[in-house]
Amino acid sequence: MSPSPATEHVLWQDQADPPRLDRRPLPGHADVVVVGGGFAGIAAARTLAAAGREVVVLEKERLGWGAHARNGGMVIPELKSGPATLERKLGPLGTRLHQEVNEAFDWVEALIADEAIACDYARTGQLYLAHTPRLVPYLRETTREHAEAGEPVRFVAREELADEIGSTAYYGGVVFDRTGGVHPARLHAGLARLALDAGADIHDHRAARSLEQLPDGRLRVTTAAGAIEAADVIVTTNAYADGFLPELRSRVLPVGSFIVATEVLDPALAAELSPRGRMFVDTKNFLYYWRLTPDGRMLFGGRKSMNPPSLDEATAFLTESMRRVHPQLADARIDYQWGGYVAVTLDRLPHVGQLRGAWYATGCNGSGVALNTWLGHRLAQTVLGEAPPPAFAELKHPRIPLRALRRAYLPVVGQWFRYQDRA
Ligand SMILES: Cc1cc2nc3c(=O)[nH]c(=O)nc-3n(C[C@H](O)[C@H](O)[C@H](O)COP(=O)(O)OP(=O)(O)OC[C@H]3O[C@@H](n4cnc5c(N)ncnc54)[C@H](O)[C@@H]3O)c2cc1C
Repeated sequence: MSPSPATEHVLWQDQADPPRLDRRPLPGHADVVVVGGGFAGIAAARTLAAAGREVVVLEKERLGWGAHARNGGMVIPELKSGPATLERKLGPLGTRLHQEVNEAFDWVEALIADEAIACDYARTGQLYLAHTPRLVPYLRETTREHAEAGEPVRFVAREELADEIGSTAYYGGVVFDRTGGVHPARLHAGLARLALDAGADIHDHRAARSLEQLPDGRLRVTTAAGAIEAADVIVTTNAYADGFLPELRSRVLPVGSFIVATEVLDPALAAELSPRGRMFVDTKNFLYYWRLTPDGRMLFGGRKSMNPPSLDEATAFLTESMRRVHPQLADARIDYQWGGYVAVTLDRLPHVGQLRGAWYATGCNGSGVALNTWLGHRLAQTVLGEAPPPAFAELKHPRIPLRALRRAYLPVVGQWFRYQDRA
């Protein structure tokens, strides 16, 4: 029986088996406390524990609840802009950021392979699709920019799209070979097992409430179940940043994104919709992202506006949108629907830094499966003194101004985005 449309039902969480953690007392001391048990926090903990550090992870919710087990599972090395655009905007730092995003992608692919993490990873490639003829020149330019940087990309004209996608809704596309598809909750569960095996002390349902700098330079993290003192703290709360570190919360905007997934499709229909099993993304401001799941469903994600919709509204909007792109799915039942938050920053770039003596990585802007995992690992290396901080630490990370007013102006921005998408 399919669940009620109003009930959140997360496909990935239904199919994953994260380690179950016993409720245990917290230690009073550790070398490092990691706040947030998503991809970044768990990756940091694994690297630290493997280097022999006593590391405690505090996760506010159940392990395998957050964005890490709610996303589209698209493993994409991207920063919204291509390499030349980044260099134009940021100089040599832009080039280094582009290199780091690619390093993150390679590192995550190698980790999955080396540790044999059972997470249905496949190098599928991504098809980025123009939703209006006006954007075809932009896609040609994007292809050129990435090709000049030596990346395997290819422009696909409208007449050739049938080879790539069972839809006539688009006007051209770019294939990026360096993209993969993963079962995100299985990847996270696999990483958590590796961190536990390495000796990390992971606690879920344990929110970090406050952070204090002690006179001797150590840090104290307080929870409802006691405090832990540590030499270093790494904060990886991304879009779910709360009052634990208000200075961090004021630097990211949590923006909701929603997903629906159909029943398991007939294999012939699945192959018609996605002959090459690509990850699909389109060019709208309120973009759609979609893919086949490892068990042969269509997963379709996006958002309609800046206003937070109800799950019913989001499900209705995405179901209708999916059927407009793929009319072949008119009768396909929706079995799953859910939402989550992505962390948006003012410059739409990820950020790394230090606040009140604690390191943090945040601001995935919708693409953090590979990058945030790697940033967690890199922050661990930074704390260990094995490597300098990632280049993302060199970006200025301003607060988002007028937080109180943003509720007023976001709907206006949303209407402008919708107008552009329709125009
Ligand atoms: C619907 C959706 C679709 C997405 N699709 C994609 C995609 O296809 N590809 C892609 O690359 N990215 C995608 N993303 C983004 C991706 O999921 C994130 O970038 C990634 O999960 C970030 O990992 P993280 O570890 O930094 O943060 P998270 O996975 O969000 O983990 C942060 C954790 O911190 C915990 N926390 C918060 N406050 C506290 C506290 N005070 N104490 C203790 N714990 C705390 C939270 O409970 C949470 O579990 C998507 C996101 C969403 C929501």
